[in-house]
Amino acid sequence: MPDGLRGLGVSPGVGAGPVRLIAGAVPEPPVGDRHQGDADAETARAVGALEAVAADLEDRGAKAGGEARDVLSAQAMMARDPGLAELAGQKITEGSSAPRAVHEAFGVFRGLLAGAGDYLAGRVADLDDIRDRAVAELLGLPMPGVPESDEPFVLVARDLAPADTALLDPAKVVAFVTEEGGPTSHTAILARSMGVPAVVACPGCTGLAEGTVVLVDGGSGQVRPDPSGEEIVRAHAAVAARSAALTATGPGATADGHAVPLLANVGGPRDVAAALAHGAEGVGLFRTEFLFLDRTAPPGEEEQVAAYRAVLEAFPYVVVRTLDAGADKPLAFLPVTGEEPNPALGERGLRMLRRHPEVLEGQLRALAGAARDLPVELLVMAPMVADAGEARDFAAACRAAGIGRAGVMIEIPAAALRARDLAAEVDFFSLGTNDLAQYAFAADRQVGALSRLQDPWQPALLDLVALTAEGAAGTPCGVCGEAAGDPALACVLTGLGVTSLSMSPPALPAVRAALAAHTTDQCRRAATAARAAHDADTARQGARAELPGLSALGL
Ligand code: PEP
Ligand code: MG
Repeated sequence: MPDGLRGLGVSPGVGAGPVRLIAGAVPEPPVGDRHQGDADAETARAVGALEAVAADLEDRGAKAGGEARDVLSAQAMMARDPGLAELAGQKITEGSSAPRAVHEAFGVFRGLLAGAGDYLAGRVADLDDIRDRAVAELLGLPMPGVPESDEPFVLVARDLAPADTALLDPAKVVAFVTEEGGPTSHTAILARSMGVPAVVACPGCTGLAEGTVVLVDGGSGQVRPDPSGEEIVRAHAAVAARSAALTATGPGATADGHAVPLLANVGGPRDVAAALAHGAEGVGLFRTEFLFLDRTAPPGEEEQVAAYRAVLEAFPYVVVRTLDAGADKPLAFLPVTGEEPNPALGERGLRMLRRHPEVLEGQLRALAGAARDLPVELLVMAPMVADAGEARDFAAACRAAGIGRAGVMIEIPAAALRARDLAAEVDFFSLGTNDLAQYAFAADRQVGALSRLQDPWQPALLDLVALTAEGAAGTPCGVCGEAAGDPALACVLTGLGVTSLSMSPPALPAVRAALAAHTTDQCRRAATAARAAHDADTARQGARAELPGLSALGL
């Protein structure tokens, strides 16, 4: 066991607790895998595994209660289906090993469900989950998916997919640690929005034994196994002292009174309370994918209206992003057309919606309907816009749906370079620095080994931000990528001409304090110093030298 591990701290704070691992995918038992000769014993093993999985699902359902209990007991019933055990038994009689026989038996059931209409096809994922659990049980592997735990824990995984994290109980997770991922990966974004400390790109973390207590420092990126009680207390005290220093409230502004609205990034109604608690002036990025994940058909317009309304009625100003499907956010009902060797460069975001205009039109109608009679100012923007023609078409679709203010995210370098052309077509810009960095540096944001290239302090990224703000020529130009939540970088972005900042809610107090401690002139000087640097580290140091208020605030 290593003394300590180090990764990239992407969500500040400290957390200590026992490790719970999310197991990787359960491997398919090899074709032709055969048992030793005792078919009866092997059949008993298969039946026993199915029963163990059913009992476990039922048990978890009973603990969870509510809707989860119904879903899990339906899954338990599938595992106990006598047809399944019979089919597996037949395959074992023909010589197959129990894991292979179970895998193949599920395959037959899967084929039947997949061809049986939309509702049943939606259950295929449940069936796959039961199959993986039964095979894991037989092979002695850890159970797949988010682990169950009665006590708070540190979640350790290779990486987290949006579908895993949708099921997380935020009260149970004290920290995240992943091997993969960078500062803009989903794990990092989720952790920041939950206010949970997180370390990503941490080699060796999945080698930590289940149950080992670790101390995770989401600022420094350190992960310490078996910390002393005193170390844990000290780490918590340091974090508490820092957050006590950040008590300012009210709208965002620099020391000389230049207003910079401070907005929240939200992923659905469950983030509203945190955004309000941290004093968000509105929402600068409402990621709408949450409603579409894990579905085989798009949600109906009424369901969409209800979900959007829960956010729109909480704030005076909300920027909604239309569905950003594809690549790292795959949706079952919007499959890509052909092979995509490079999904991040494929059909995602607005490109996907241009191929499925009915999905875009439905979402825009639902948004207009949700805002009706509310005092909210609704703005709608499209992700992954490449050029002025796409911006024009999107703005026209918004107008046709009765949405007054249409904008685009600037996350493709081509759009930043030609910001002036795009500004002529829309009412506002929002810089998605997570993807803008990914595409500017040709570095997949999910790949931990490339996290250096995802650093938002890279001068080339700052140049693209500056070009966009300049090309906007009076069109409001905010930032909603993770860069906006870094207090020093928030000052730099303001100095580059960005007009609003949207971030994970827990980041708001530190950014508010950093802006209030510096004048617009200081922000401009910090921006000039950062752009004059030749790499991210010197850009950060150069900017900080112009922002003396940061260290006074402990930032
Ligand atoms: C971005 O790319 O910066 C952004 C805000 O969008 P997402 O992280 O959801 O891709
Ligand atoms: Mg993006």
